[in-house]
Amino acid sequence: MMNTLKRNIALLLVLLCMQVAVAQERLQSPEQFLGYQLGKQFTTQNRILDYVNYLAAQAPNRMKVQQYGQTYEGRPLMLAYVASDENLPRLEQIQENNLRQAGLQSGQVQGNQPAIVWLSYNIHGNESVSSEAVMQVLYDLLDPANAQTKQWLQNTVIILDPMVNPDGRERYVQWYKQASNQGGNASPYAWEHYEPWPGGRPNHYYFDLNRDWAWQTQIESKQRLKEYNNWLPQVHADFHEMGTESPYYFSPAAKPFHESITPWQRQFQNTIGDYNRQYFDKNNWLYFTRENFDLFYPSYGDTYPTYNGAIGMTYEQGGSGRAGLTYQKQDGDTLTLVDRIAHHVAASHATIQASSEKADQLKQEFRKYYQNNLNNPAGDYKAFVLKADGRSAANLKSLTDYMDRQGIQYGYAGKSTSVRGFNYSTGKEERVSVGSNDVVISMYQPKSTLVKVLFEPNARLEDSLTYDITSWSLPYAYNVQAYALKNRMNVSSINTAATSAAAITIERPYAYLARWNNLQDLKFLTELMKQDVKVRQAEKAFETDGQRYEPGTLIITRTGNERMGDKLDATVRELAKQYDVNLSATGTGFVSSGADFGSGSVRYLKMPKVALLSGEGVSPYGFGEVWHYFEQQIGYPVTVLNTSYFRNIPLNEFDVLILPNGSYSQVLNEETLENVRDWVNAGGKLIAMESAAGFLAGKKGFNLKKKSQEAESEEKSKVKDENPYKNLHTYANREREALEGEVQGSIFRVDLDKTHPLAFGYGDTYFGLIRSADTFSFLENGWNVGVLKKDNYTTGFVGSKSKEKLQDALILGTQDMGRGQVIYLADNPLFRGFWQGGKLMFGNAVFLVGQ
Ligand SMILES: [Zn+2]
Repeated sequence: MMNTLKRNIALLLVLLCMQVAVAQERLQSPEQFLGYQLGKQFTTQNRILDYVNYLAAQAPNRMKVQQYGQTYEGRPLMLAYVASDENLPRLEQIQENNLRQAGLQSGQVQGNQPAIVWLSYNIHGNESVSSEAVMQVLYDLLDPANAQTKQWLQNTVIILDPMVNPDGRERYVQWYKQASNQGGNASPYAWEHYEPWPGGRPNHYYFDLNRDWAWQTQIESKQRLKEYNNWLPQVHADFHEMGTESPYYFSPAAKPFHESITPWQRQFQNTIGDYNRQYFDKNNWLYFTRENFDLFYPSYGDTYPTYNGAIGMTYEQGGSGRAGLTYQKQDGDTLTLVDRIAHHVAASHATIQASSEKADQLKQEFRKYYQNNLNNPAGDYKAFVLKADGRSAANLKSLTDYMDRQGIQYGYAGKSTSVRGFNYSTGKEERVSVGSNDVVISMYQPKSTLVKVLFEPNARLEDSLTYDITSWSLPYAYNVQAYALKNRMNVSSINTAATSAAAITIERPYAYLARWNNLQDLKFLTELMKQDVKVRQAEKAFETDGQRYEPGTLIITRTGNERMGDKLDATVRELAKQYDVNLSATGTGFVSSGADFGSGSVRYLKMPKVALLSGEGVSPYGFGEVWHYFEQQIGYPVTVLNTSYFRNIPLNEFDVLILPNGSYSQVLNEETLENVRDWVNAGGKLIAMESAAGFLAGKKGFNLKKKSQEAESEEKSKVKDENPYKNLHTYANREREALEGEVQGSIFRVDLDKTHPLAFGYGDTYFGLIRSADTFSFLENGWNVGVLKKDNYTTGFVGSKSKEKLQDALILGTQDMGRGQVIYLADNPLFRGFWQGGKLMFGNAVFLVGQ
C-alpha cells in the first residue's frame, strides 16, 4: 500500500516536471529564437535554416524539411512541408494522388486529397524581405495557439521554399551588414542604400532565376523544378520586391495575358486579390493591382506555374536592394524592414486562406484543366514534328532531354509520310515530308498547354506593353527543323534509327575526321586541346573515301601528334565516344576533291588563352552568360578580369578578349582603347557583344557603323515635308509610344555566309533572338557573316519605328585589324543561356575565327 502510494507520488512528480518542460519548450517565435525582433537585423541563411530546422524538430507531426540540392557556391536548397497531423505522414500518397488527378501517373486517388499550395521566397537575392517573412509564416502555421492556421491546414498542404537564391541573398545581406550603420540609416544618401556591382539579385553566374523557370539553365532551377514538377501545386506564389517608392502589388496581374491562360485561372487571380485586399484594407496599407506585371513570358514564377495548371502569382513589396533596414521615402514616410515583412506575411496568409476556403473548387478545376489538355487541347496546332536530320541531331537530343525534364511526352512518326504543315524555316504552310524517326509531339497529352506555349511559332500578344521578350519558340531556339500540324498525328514509341556509328576499321589511321555541327563537336575540340592533341580544321568542303565533308571538319593527323604515340588513337576515340561525336578515319591525306590535309587551307587550331571582362560598367547578366558558358557548358578555362584594374593588364598574355554587353565609356577611355587596339594589331582577337560593339562603332580603327548615325541625318532633311503636328503627343500614351522604337526579343532569320569560320556548322540561315533595334550597317571593310535583309522578320513584337532599322542590318561581322581580328556580335547568342542554336556560333568566334 505504502509502496503504491510512493509510486503514485513519484509518477505525479514526473508528470508535473514534464508539464513544466513542455511549457518551457513552447514553440519559440522567430524573435525568441533569434534574439531580436524580425526586421531589426537581416538574418543570414545559416540562422534562417537553424530556425526552420528547429521548427521541424519541435513539430515533427506537422512539418518536414527536405534538402533538394545546393547552389553553385555550395549553399543548401531546402523545402519545408507543413500539413495537418493526419496529412503529414501521407505526403507521398498526396503527391501521387495529385499526379493522378493530372493524368501524369496511373491509378486512383486514395483518401482525402488536400489542395497544394507552394510559396517561393527570395528568388531575387537582394529582395531580401522574403526570407525574413517566411520565418513568421512558418511560425504562424505551426503555433499551437493559432486556431485559424490549424483550420486552413485541414484541407491544404503548404510547401515553402524559404530561399530560392541563397547565393544572391547572402551577397546582399553580407554586404549590407558591412556597409550599414548600427540599426540602419534612413537617409537615402547613406552608403547602405547603394549596393555595389553586381548586386544580389541574380545567382552565382548572374542569371536572373526568375527568367529561368522554363529554361532551367541554372542548377538552382534544375533541382527546384524537378521537385516542382513532381508536385504540380494548385497555387504558386512568388515573393518579390520592387522600387522603394511603390506600394504593395498583388494580383490580378496586368495585361497582356497569354491566350493559353484559362478563364478560371483569370478569375481565381481576382479571388486571391480579394482576400489580399481584405488584409491590406484592414491595416490601411497602400497597394495596387492590374499594372506592370503581366502574364506572358513563360519563364517567370507566375507564368510557368500557370502554364502547368496552377494559379500563379507574383507579390511585390517596395524595397529591394535599396531599402535596407530603414529608408526615408520621397513622400516623407519611413519604410522599414519590419513593415515590409508584415506585408509579405499578410499576403502569404491571404493566399493560404483563399486556397483553403476554395480548396474544392481548386482541385476540381485543376482536374478539368488536365482533362482538357489531354482531350481537347487548345490552339490551331495538334502536333509538332521535329526533323531527325544529321546536322541537328545533337540539338534535337538537347531538346528531347529538355522535354523529359518538363514531363512533356513525345514519340516518333513510325513511318514515312507526307502531310500539310507550317514549316518553321520557310514560315509557310506547305506539304512537308515526315521521316519514320522524326520526333512527334502530340498535343493530346496532359501538358499540352505548356507544349503550345513553348512550341507554337507565333505567340499572340493581346497588348504590346510587356516587359520581356515576346518570342521563344523552341524549334527556333534549338535550331531544329520543325513543322506544326493542324491535324492530329499518331505517335509511335519505336525509334528505328541506328544507335551507334559505324566502327572504325583502320587501326592506325593517317587522320581522324569529325564533322563540325554542334556544341558537342565543340566540346570534343576543346577537350582535345586541353589534352594537348593537335587539331586542324578544313576551311573548304572536301571528299575522301566517297564521303563529303563540309567546311569546319576537324582533322586530327598522326603527323604533328607523334609524341603521343599510340595514345593518340585511344584518346581521340575515347573522347569521341564521350561527346557522342561521329568520328571517321582515313588512311590517306589525299582527297578526291577539295584541299589535301597538307594544304594551307587546312588550319592548325591553336588553343586560345581567353580573357573575359567583368566589373563596374559591364552588364552582370551579359558577363554571367559568357562566364557560365565557359565554366558550365563547355568546360574551358577562362580568366575573368575586372574593369577596376583592366588598364594595367598586359594583354599580350591572352589570345582572346571578350567584352560582354555593357557601357564602356568609363572603362575604355582613349588610352585603354589604344592599348586594346595595339594588342589586336599585334594579333589579338577582340569579341565585342551587343552594346560593347555599339561602343566601338565609329571609333578609330573600327569599321563598324551604327545605322542610327546614318539615318538621323537623312531624317532631319525629310522632316519638313511631314505632318506639322507630328510632335504633339498624348501624355497618357507615352509608355505605348516608347514601344514604337523597340524590339523586345523577337525572332529573325539571319542570313549567313556559311563559308566564313564564324558560321561553320550552320546552313544558309540561323534564327536569332534580336533584342535591340540599335543596329549596324553592313561592313564596307570586313565580313558580313550574319545579316538581316528586307523580309527576315519571323515572329515576336517589333515596334513600328524599329521595323525599318531591322532591315539590311549587320548582326554578326568580323574585320581584320593588323594581324588580329575584331568580331562584332550585335546579337547575343548566349542570351539567358537558353538559345541553344547560338552556342556553336559563339564557340566559332572564340576558337575558329582568325586561326
Ligand atoms: Zn523580383
